Amino acid sequence: MALRYCAGSSAYVPQRSSMSIFTRQMNMEAQSVAAHLNSSGFIRSQGLIGGKWIDAYDGKTIKVCNPATGDVLTNVPFMGGKETNDAIASAYDAFVSWSKLTAADRSKCLRKWYDLIMAHKEELGQLITLEGGKPLKEAIGEVSYGASFIEYYAEEAKRVYGDIIPATLPDRRLFVLKQPVGVVGAITPWNFPLAMITRKVAPALACGCTVVIKPSELTPLTALAAADLSIQAGIPPGVVNVVMGNAADIGEALLASSQVRKIAFTGSTAVGKKLMAGAAGTVKKVSLELGGNAPCIIFDDADLEVALKGTLATKFRNSGQTCVCANRILVQEGIYEKFANAFSNAVQSMKVGDGFGEGVVQGPLINDAAVQKVEKLVQDAISKGAKVLVGGKKHSLGRTFYEPTVMIDVKGEMLISREEVFGPVAPLLKFKTEEEAISLANDTNAGLAAYFFTTNVQRSWRVAEALEYGIVGVNEGLVSTEVAPFGGVKQSGLGREGSKYGIEEFLEIKYVCLGNMN
Ligand code: ADP
Repeated sequence: MALRYCAGSSAYVPQRSSMSIFTRQMNMEAQSVAAHLNSSGFIRSQGLIGGKWIDAYDGKTIKVCNPATGDVLTNVPFMGGKETNDAIASAYDAFVSWSKLTAADRSKCLRKWYDLIMAHKEELGQLITLEGGKPLKEAIGEVSYGASFIEYYAEEAKRVYGDIIPATLPDRRLFVLKQPVGVVGAITPWNFPLAMITRKVAPALACGCTVVIKPSELTPLTALAAADLSIQAGIPPGVVNVVMGNAADIGEALLASSQVRKIAFTGSTAVGKKLMAGAAGTVKKVSLELGGNAPCIIFDDADLEVALKGTLATKFRNSGQTCVCANRILVQEGIYEKFANAFSNAVQSMKVGDGFGEGVVQGPLINDAAVQKVEKLVQDAISKGAKVLVGGKKHSLGRTFYEPTVMIDVKGEMLISREEVFGPVAPLLKFKTEEEAISLANDTNAGLAAYFFTTNVQRSWRVAEALEYGIVGVNEGLVSTEVAPFGGVKQSGLGREGSKYGIEEFLEIKYVCLGNMN
C-alpha cells in the first residue's frame, strides 16, 4: 500500500514531523487495516468488464484516498467512453441469457451474493471507512443495510406478476406481461458506497436486467469488492460491470447508447438534471434520487427524549453527509430553549476522529470542497444574525474534520436553510404555529425526507399529509429500510428504490392481445 498523501484532498496536510501522537496512531490503525485488505485481495484496482478485470485502455489512473489521513489507498483506472461502450456491449450480450433464466435461478445467485457480502461484512465495512471516512460501526451497518436489498430482491424476483384483463370482445384474451427493461446504467455517489449500488443493482438483476455501474471516483473500492463477490456468487460475466474515471465521458456514453434502456442515479440535483435531459435523446427510463433539504420539526408537545434521539440520529448520521439528514431543525417557541440546550449538550459530547478510533461517532468530511461549503453556509448564517452554541469551525484534528455544530436564531432566508449543508451542522429555527411550521418546511424545491416529533395523534396524520415530501418520519429519525419505498417529490427526484415499488422501475409493461380465440 502506498503511503503518499493525496494532493488537494485536504486544506491541511500535516507534516509527519509535526503530527500529534493521536494523528500518528490514527494513521497507523488505518494503514494496518489497508495493508491487511490489500494482502487479502480485498482492494481491487481495476474495472470490471465482461467478467474481466481491466485497466483504462490508455493506462491512466486516479488515486483513491483515505479522507481521514490523506493516505493514498490505491490507484484505479481512469476510464472513459471506450471502456464504457465495451461494458455496455458486455451487459447487452449477457442480458440475452440472464433475462431468460428462471426467476428462481436468478434468485439463488442473488441470495449467494447476499451471503458472501454478509460473510465479509467486516472487511467491506473497513473498506467503507477507509475510502469514505464513516465510523466503522456505521460502515458495518451500511453493509447490512446494503446487503438487505439483495436479500429482499432475491425474494421479490419470484413475485414479478403480470395481469389478465377481462376482454372487451368474446374472442379475445388480454394479458399484461412484465419484462426487464434491459441494460441499466447505475451511477452512484460516495456517501453510501455499497447501499446506493445494491439498492439499484439488486432489483435490476432480480427481474433480469444487466448493469453497468459507475461508482463515485472517491469511493470505487467498495463497489469493486462487491462486484468481485457477485462473480464469486456465480452471477455470470457481463451481468455486473464496473467502470470509473471520467464521469462526464462515462455518463455521455451511457446516455448516448440505445442499448442502455434505463439510468438509475443517486447524486446531486445538478447532475440529475443533466442526466434527465441527456436521456431524452434515446428516450430512456430514468430514476433519480437527488438532493434534499429535510425539515425536522419539534412541536411543543413532543416527547423531549424521543425528539432529541431522533434529531441527533437524522442530523449526524455519516457526519451529516446524507440526502435525508435533517437540514433545518424547526423548533416550536415553547420548547425551543429547552431543546436547544439539551441538544447542544449531546452534540458537545460527540467524539470526532478517524472512523477506526474507539468510540468515534463523527468522521471527517469527504473532501475540501465539502468543508468549504459548510464554512460558507455557517459564515453566511453568522453574518445574518445566527449564533453558534457548539462548534462552528474546523476541528483541531485538521484535514477535513469539522466540529459538530449547533446554531440558533437561524432564519428561513439564510443560505443554510436554502441549501443542503451536507455536514455536521444543526441550524435551529423557531416557529409559533403548526401552519407556520408546515409552510416553512415546504418552502423549498426539494422534497425527499421530512421528520417531525409530536405526541398528538391527530397532528401526526395532519402534518404527515401536509408535508410535500416522499418520506416522512414521525417520532423517528432513521426511516430507511429495504422494505419501504425511498425517493422524493419535486426536485428531489423521480421513482422509488427499495420495496415492492422499487422493482417496477426496472420493468417494462407489455400488453398482449390474443385474437381469434373462439
Ligand atoms: P455528489 O456531490 O454527491 O458527489 P454528484 O452528482 O457530483 O454528487 O456525483 C454523483 C455521481 O454522479 C458520481 O458517481 C459522479 O462521478 C457522477 N457524475 C458526476 N457528473 C456526472 C456526469 N456529467 N455524468 C454522469 N455522471 C456524473
